[in-house]
Amino acid sequence: MKIYITGELVEEADAKISVFDHGFLYGDGIFEGIRVYNKCVFKLEEHLERLEYSAKAIMFDMPWSRREISDAVCETCRANNIIDGYVRLCATRGRGTLGLNPKVCEDPQLIVIAGTIQLYPEDYYTEGLKIITVPTRRVNPAALPPMIKSLNYLNNILAKLEAINQGYMEALMLNDQGYVAECTGDNIYIVKGRDILTPPTSAGALKGITRDVTFAIAQEKGLDLTESELTRYDLWIADECFLTGTAAEIIPVTEIDGRKIGSGRPGILTQQLMSAFHEKLSLEGTIL
Ligand code: PMP
Repeated sequence: MKIYITGELVEEADAKISVFDHGFLYGDGIFEGIRVYNKCVFKLEEHLERLEYSAKAIMFDMPWSRREISDAVCETCRANNIIDGYVRLCATRGRGTLGLNPKVCEDPQLIVIAGTIQLYPEDYYTEGLKIITVPTRRVNPAALPPMIKSLNYLNNILAKLEAINQGYMEALMLNDQGYVAECTGDNIYIVKGRDILTPPTSAGALKGITRDVTFAIAQEKGLDLTESELTRYDLWIADECFLTGTAAEIIPVTEIDGRKIGSGRPGILTQQLMSAFHEKLSLEGTIL
């Protein structure tokens, strides 16, 4: 596998960064997870825009233009003959000292890894996923805005560990006020009657690219998808539930905290959204 590091494509064994890089020492960096479908990079511009917003939020003046980053992503995919795959794009502030001060960092790094991903086994898409609320709360936006896609994912990792320790693959995270925020790597939605509801980003949800695509599909299909503060109770009594994310795509949830959701089978609207999503994938993207 060829890895892109700041202007160079190198073999995996030679893909190295400094141990003084603040991305490594402090998680002081940002990233994107991007899909490639049929030799097209899905929603590349949207991912690059979100990367720029993350950079702005952490006051990281990236020395690369959007075009340069876009070229790096495409070049890495081509070098690895990616047809359907998953790209991890990371940008770190670079080499600093052992102190926190990010202002002393130099030589920022841009890293692109182009491979594949399968987050959940195939039958979870037909049978549904079971999730559980965990004690770890989504980080308070006043401490660290969850909208920033930073290299520090410990908040999510703690939640994921709590779910795994209880025998579940995914965790439901509440915010510090007890409202539903999101899962550890996915946005969450419920269906109640004809309404599809998802927490607003102000509740601690990342502004997912797949979430934006889901909003677009709902609009095209004349479905009512709106943002709403949600409680665990709202989820327990929902007709349907599903998650969205770049790696997970759209996946049905059929059990939450031991309560069966709806009939306990993937819901009709969820399935409609899933098939519309898959149709969209083959039509859109930046051609490699
Ligand atoms: N929430 C979190 C915490 C995430 O890390 C992600 C990305 N894996 C998402 C939601 C979904 O965002 P996207 O659709 O852009 O992948």
